[in-house]
Amino acid sequence: MSANETSPKKNLFQTVLRQFNTAADTINLDPDIRKIVAKPMNEISVNFPVKMDDGRIEIFSGYRVQHNNVLGPFKGGLRYHPAVDLDEVRALAAWMTWKTAVADIPLGGAKGGIQIDPSKYSIRELERITRRFTFALGDNIGPDYDIPAPDVNTNSQIMAWILDTYLQMKSPGERYRSTHVVTGKPIESGGSAGRDKATGQGVVFVIEQWAKDNNFDLTNGTYFVQGFGNVGSWAARLLKKFGTRLVGVEDASGAIINPAGIDPDDLCEYIEKNNYAIAGYPKAEPIDHNEFLRIKADIFIPAALENQITARTAPDLNVRLIAEGANGPTDIEGDRIVQEKGIDLIPDILCNAGGVIVSYFEWLQNKRSEFWELEEIDKKLHRIIINGYKKVTAAAETYKTDWRTAAYIVALRRLERVFKERGIFP
Ligand code: NAD
Repeated sequence: MSANETSPKKNLFQTVLRQFNTAADTINLDPDIRKIVAKPMNEISVNFPVKMDDGRIEIFSGYRVQHNNVLGPFKGGLRYHPAVDLDEVRALAAWMTWKTAVADIPLGGAKGGIQIDPSKYSIRELERITRRFTFALGDNIGPDYDIPAPDVNTNSQIMAWILDTYLQMKSPGERYRSTHVVTGKPIESGGSAGRDKATGQGVVFVIEQWAKDNNFDLTNGTYFVQGFGNVGSWAARLLKKFGTRLVGVEDASGAIINPAGIDPDDLCEYIEKNNYAIAGYPKAEPIDHNEFLRIKADIFIPAALENQITARTAPDLNVRLIAEGANGPTDIEGDRIVQEKGIDLIPDILCNAGGVIVSYFEWLQNKRSEFWELEEIDKKLHRIIINGYKKVTAAAETYKTDWRTAAYIVALRRLERVFKERGIFP
């Protein structure tokens, strides 16, 4: 059974609002500001036709929700998945607003996607779908207005098609000033060193900091990861250098276990030849989804989809730390149980911020026609994400609260300050 079958789609934006309200109540957030940030600013829905390889026309539904831009241009990924709908995108957009605020970078929050199972389409069809979606969005995105990036089932190739389509719609003079309309591009098309691994790298930086703070020796530690795509596979490959043992992996094709350890680099090589699926990996045993979540290990990295740690699954977790690589993997009930069990949880809006932080670097490099070395990027990423980590742990201490609420508090305090300074137009 895959994770999806066990977690029916919930009203994700309700989860965001409940998390938000807990933090807003804790700090007595200004009631006017509370009203403003509880709603997304803009919601764009588009239905657009695309010609399939066999000549048929299919209609696709795409979304872009721009939650808030008081801190800077809207920023957030694009997801291609059958479960994408306005509610999901709304929640993901709000999480982006909190995330950029926690990281203290000058960007706002947005998210988008197409309701589609990309595995059912050829590469040429995906290219036409992407280009037509970009055309339908038109000037709702823009290099200094709203900047998409990769998310689930989208990658640097898709960003390159969006860039190219967007540039075709601009005057020649504007074209060369617009490379930063998307981030997560291939390096040759204006991408940044380190963007590929950025989210996984951020996850590993915060795990390393947690280990330091808790006198935990990563060398002898074990962990398992759900999702072996961009975030999960990079987190695993980067944890390898600490000697931490990967004992279980799950993706959309199934789950595997090997208490003696799974080599993440070897698994990456395997999936590259196996349609990016872990199923059938010969150096581990297949296990059922429920068993997978019961694995006894030190760390669990959910890096797939939302609503995985719930009232049903949280009681079975047998770990010391959850590092949320995915957005929204824990629902409200799941959160409560995790806290009762005394499991530490580094929340998504801090833990997976590495992606948007390096996207910010890519955007800056494009604007300045610069190219930064990987070493410099890693150093800056480390400084920013650990700064966020320290602010969150300090807020948790001050307000005697869990880390998710603390992260919201850090974000809401920053937004509140800016709204108060600027006032409301007119
Ligand atoms: P991806 O498409 O590269 O990988 C997704 C992985 O999840 C794949 O291995 C897929 O098989 C697996 N998966 C899908 N459905 C599953 C299921 N039902 N059960 C178990 N595994 C399943 O996506 P990604 O970019 O790695 O994103 C993963 C998560 O991280 C998402 O929540 C995304 O929003 C979040 N995130 C991504 C980035 C980024 O930079 N890519 C940044 C921040 C947060």
